[in-house]
This record gives sequence, structure tokens and C-alpha cells, in this order.
Amino acid sequence: MKGGPLAERIRAEVADDVRELGEVGLATVQVGEDPASAIYIRRKHEAAHEAGMSSVDLKLPAEISQEELVAAVAELNEDDGVDGILVQLPLPGGLDDALAVAAIDPVKDVDGVHPFNAGQLYLGRPTHVPATPLGIMALLAEHKVMLDGARAVVVGRSDIVGKPVAHLLLQANATVTICHTHTDDLERHTLDADVLVVAAGVPEIVTADMVKSGSAVVDVGINRVEGGLVGDVDPDAAERAAFLTPVPGGIGPMTIAMLLANTVRAARYRLGLLAFPGVSL
Ligand code: NDP
Repeated sequence: MKGGPLAERIRAEVADDVRELGEVGLATVQVGEDPASAIYIRRKHEAAHEAGMSSVDLKLPAEISQEELVAAVAELNEDDGVDGILVQLPLPGGLDDALAVAAIDPVKDVDGVHPFNAGQLYLGRPTHVPATPLGIMALLAEHKVMLDGARAVVVGRSDIVGKPVAHLLLQANATVTICHTHTDDLERHTLDADVLVVAAGVPEIVTADMVKSGSAVVDVGINRVEGGLVGDVDPDAAERAAFLTPVPGGIGPMTIAMLLANTVRAARYRLGLLAFPGVSL
């Protein structure tokens, strides 16, 4: 289950949408100088430009106060040239991720991390949903993986991957189990999974013998090890699984494509072409 071809198609559709809408803009906010974050941010800007979007790359010093950060986000909220806002997390020490996220206008929250959008997802009325879970669902749909009635197991419960993808799988009528560091006997759960999503950030935590024959396995992990990048699933699992996403080249490209698609949706909300649930926050 390579992500590249579908991601390319989605990016081409996004470029068409951007042409149709006129102007669409994405803003990122990076606090401090973490080099890995800077690489991710640069990729997002390159993809946005390629799709014809404008972008703002706001870099703030690590010494900034919480109030200054909130004020910078508020300024982007007011800027009509900015449809989507991403605050790169985690923030450096002393700054509160939750406060920064809560400062984003939910309509512009293309990472789907604002409590309003997270709540909408939980209630089964998704607005902005984090890009990685959306990419996972799109890839499963592309490969016609049956979710209705399937046993789905998610390893990881982060706000950006594990929890939201578990909700999307539940909404697709899968029976969902979420595993985490306190889960006893991980293998017992993974072996039962018709659909297994692994987002733990632990190199090859799922070995081939932990995968059910004929299952669909989504490897979200990106782990830097000596010699390159590895996922959370041993690639040998491909011998048992019907589908396995590669690392790199699986969920990574899908995440970027869905972030762009989220930004187009945010532009539609701004332009009144789509209704954002009217809640005063
Ligand atoms: P987090 O570190 O926020 O969350 C990891 C989750 O995995 C936690 O819930 C943790 O449990 C659980 N976990 C860790 N170790 C184990 C274990 N031994 N057994 C069971 N559960 C475990 O990570 P993210 O969700 O942000 O990312 C996960 C991975 O996906 C990372 O490798 C990241 O780089 C990658 N990623 C890739 C993306 C892409 O575009 N392809 C996008 C986003 C992330 P607990 O809650 O108990 O601590």
C-alpha cells in the first residue's frame, strides 16, 4: 500500500481547487530551532507552493513568552490571506502546547488539534481532522479494505494519530481496540487485528509473527536509526499481511497531501462555500 500514487492524485486535485478558489494560504509557526521540525515545515511549504498556495513561515525565538505566542497566532487568525494555521508541536520548555493550540481559530486549525475540532470528531461530526489519520483512512479506502465489522487495532494513543484514527475507524463501523504502553500482551491484540494501525514511534515494535494473515497493516512510525529510516513494523510482515504500507513512502506522503486538502477545506469555510458548525468559542 504505497502512499505516493494516491498522494500525487490528491495533490493534483488540490492544485485544481486552489486555481478555482483564487487564493489559499497556509501558515506555520515554529518556536525555537529544532532541525527535525524545520525539515518537516520546509516540506509542507514546498508542497503548498507546488499546489499554488501562498505560505507564511513564522519562526519565533525559543525565549518567546506564552502571551507573545498567543498574540502571534491571533494575528494569523485575523489575516484573510491565511486559511490554515499549524503550530509545530511540541513547543520548547516553558510554553504550553494546549494554550497555543486553543489560540488557533478552529476554522483555520488544519491540524485538527483544537479542542473544538477534536470534540467534533469524537461526536462523530468531523470538521478539521488531523492529516495523518485522514491519510490512513484514504489509503485504506483506496485499497478497498473492508472496515465495517472488522477488528481494528491501533497501537498508540496520541492526539495527532492514535486517538483520531481510532475514532475514524469506529465511525467506519470497525470494532476498535487502542493499545498503549500499559497494554498487557500487545501481541494478543495485534494478532487479532484485521486492520492494524501502528503509531508508537518504536522501531519495528510489531514483528512479522505479531501480524494476522491476510490483514491490512498501516505503519505510521518514522524512526531514524543508523542506516536510515525504519517504521514501527518489521517489513517482513508483508509476507503475512495482505497489505502493508512501506516506510518511507507510505503514510508520510499521504499526510502532506491531506494537510493540503485540509487547507483547501479551510479556504472553503472562510469563503462561506462550506458551513463551519456555528459555535461561539
Ligand atoms: P507519540 O510519541 O505522541 O505517541 C506514541 C504512542 O505510542 C503513545 O500513545 C504510546 O503510549 C504508544 N507506545 C509507545 N511505545 C509503546 C509500546 N512499546 N507499546 C505500546 N504502545 C506504545 O507519537 P505520535 O503519535 O506523534 O507518532 C507515532 C509515530 O508516528 C512516530 O514514529 C512519528 O514519527 C510517526 N508519525 C508519522 C507521521 C507521518 O506522516 N508518517 C505523522 C505523525 C507521526 P502511551 O500513551 O502509553 O505513552
